[in-house]
Amino acid sequence: MGSAAVLPPGREWTNWVGNRTCTPRFRAAPRSEEEVAALVAAAAARGAGVRVAAAGHSFTPIVQTDGLLLDLSALSGVVSADAARSRAVALAGTPIHGFYEPLWREGLALINQGDIDTQQIAGAVATGTHGSGPRFTSLSGVVRGVTLVTAAGEVRTIGEDEPELLAAAQVAVGMLGVMTRLELEVTSAYRLREQVGIWSWDEVMERWDELVTEHRHFGLFWLPAEESGALYNLDGHGQPMADRCYVKIYDEAAPDEPDSATPGRRVDRCYRIYPMVYDANFHELEYFVPLERGPEAMRAMRELMLASLPLSVFPMEVRTVGPDEAHLSPNYGRASAVISVSGQPGTDYWGYLRAVDALLAQFDARVHWGKLHFLTPERLHALYPRADDFIAIRRRLDPRGVFLNAHLRELFA
Ligand SMILES: Cc1cc2nc3c(=O)[nH]c(=O)nc-3n(C[C@H](O)[C@H](O)[C@H](O)COP(=O)(O)OP(=O)(O)OC[C@H]3O[C@@H](n4cnc5c(N)ncnc54)[C@H](O)[C@@H]3O)c2cc1C
Repeated sequence: MGSAAVLPPGREWTNWVGNRTCTPRFRAAPRSEEEVAALVAAAAARGAGVRVAAAGHSFTPIVQTDGLLLDLSALSGVVSADAARSRAVALAGTPIHGFYEPLWREGLALINQGDIDTQQIAGAVATGTHGSGPRFTSLSGVVRGVTLVTAAGEVRTIGEDEPELLAAAQVAVGMLGVMTRLELEVTSAYRLREQVGIWSWDEVMERWDELVTEHRHFGLFWLPAEESGALYNLDGHGQPMADRCYVKIYDEAAPDEPDSATPGRRVDRCYRIYPMVYDANFHELEYFVPLERGPEAMRAMRELMLASLPLSVFPMEVRTVGPDEAHLSPNYGRASAVISVSGQPGTDYWGYLRAVDALLAQFDARVHWGKLHFLTPERLHALYPRADDFIAIRRRLDPRGVFLNAHLRELFA
């Protein structure tokens, strides 16, 4: 089967923000699982590596390959939604927004989601993409089954009856194979009531515990300078923003609460409230510290950022995520306070980001695989208790490293 696949020539690929490019030898956009399997087998037979480019929203070199680069956007759509079991099955290239209407029609919704909805579900799951709220896991934490094309070109489904493999596959950064479909746990459809406002730093810190525990979603952007809000399209409606917080609180709306379109006070279907609008003008780092150390880490970050201006002009976003069991998850076995900052494209921001890395390392910070980080193999093994188990499974499924690239080989070979 594999040798029959024609490998079309490659051309340059660039990610969404434009900080990563590669020129693969081959590029293909398969339209079926069988085509994926044939392409992977053909590439492996030629000794070429294989990677998938989903929506290209990762900042780290986790897509690049000089072998075969696959585009799975034709493998898109929710295949089934089962309200009785709270499950949905979707093809790997389904964008997050592609879940909305099919799930809503069945009285269902995604349990939680992040700031944007243009990622493909497989791309989002591969890196542990998350929203906010310690009662909820990342999107990876709700994966209950994955169908993969392995390095041998075989189609393999991993489900809850293989918990160790599933824990490896939930956050695998594309290293176990090409995902073609995923089964997710979903929830009953819900509407959200938002409360958005500009708060003082002291008020946020004083009310931190209540904000984190008593709301479905609480997240904030701390703005080091007056111009910081505009960099993430955060509207302060004329209020001063420097050294203040843009706070977002979402709670489930009662059934009799009418929809509202009032900015900052909207009430609507969950999927209309979650997404924000970003321009591709930032290069982000995001680290996960144990939830209970969140306030201490935030205070230290605020001091560092004020001392690092103007390089640190992008907001510090803070969210929370619940624990899960995925081997490479930054939330493995612990709930997290998640802190992200950005370098300004076009400037040499590496010294600033390294200072952030050094500071958050003191809080045992784990990294977001899709966002800039400075992880070494030593730190990987110190911070991720199941890293060895993941690597053993990776080696078993892909002994020749077909799905590794230079960046991933350094950490996971
Ligand atoms: C504006 C913006 C907002 C963001 N907001 C959030 C947020 O709120 N929360 C959060 O946690 N992250 C966020 N991110 C990060 C983003 O969610 C992750 O980087 C995510 O992995 C990107 O998904 P993608 O579809 O673009 O995947 P890509 O970046 O294209 O790929 C990610 C990884 O998945 C692999 N992959 C993709 N498809 C497959 C497949 N079918 N089989 C095997 N491997 C595959 C790729 O090879 C790569 O290693 C944001 C990023 C941006 C740019």
